[in-house]
Amino acid sequence: MKPGFCLLAECPHCGEKKELLQLLSGNSLGVKLWSDLKKEMPMMPMVSPVQKCPKCGRFYMLNEVKQEEGKTYSFEEGWLTFEESLLALEELKSDKKDRLELLTIIVIWAYNDIQRKEPEKIRNTPTPEQTEMFRSVIKELLEQDIYTDNELLLAELYREIGEFDKCIHILEKFEPQSEFHELVKNSIIEHAKQQDSNVFCVLGE
Ligand SMILES: [Zn+2]
Repeated sequence: MKPGFCLLAECPHCGEKKELLQLLSGNSLGVKLWSDLKKEMPMMPMVSPVQKCPKCGRFYMLNEVKQEEGKTYSFEEGWLTFEESLLALEELKSDKKDRLELLTIIVIWAYNDIQRKEPEKIRNTPTPEQTEMFRSVIKELLEQDIYTDNELLLAELYREIGEFDKCIHILEKFEPQSEFHELVKNSIIEHAKQQDSNVFCVLGE
């Protein structure tokens, strides 16, 4: 992994420039793939597409703001906490489907990150309040027909909010185009049948 000079992203609200990681090269060694389709690549970390301004605390889509190259290095990726992701959703949501889908992914990944991050191997679990909030937000988002062309993710969302029959129903109609999709499909169905709503590692653990 070879980091380059940082990326400077300019906050559209207050003008503050945030330093973010920029890679010159990386590789997929040690990749871990999760059931919510998050890929963790230690040798090719990714910057969050939604950023929080460290100065004014507001949110922006990284690809919509002015960017320039800095003169220093940064390892900041800027992924949001679950609570921040809910605020970002409120602040940035619009009628545009792709934008809503991206914000949904940020919420799901942030919620699941609570369990994924394992400080000193102690697995954290979300609080009952966080789970309740997560389920009601995702339920509301699913009413807006998001991810209709991504059955794996759609089914995973239903599984994670505890609607296991709906999850299985979607996947039974889904025809995988690769062995890999077949693997993801079968493992999500297996977990749904056990009424397990937790994110799990599909590959790499
Ligand atoms: Zn700002």
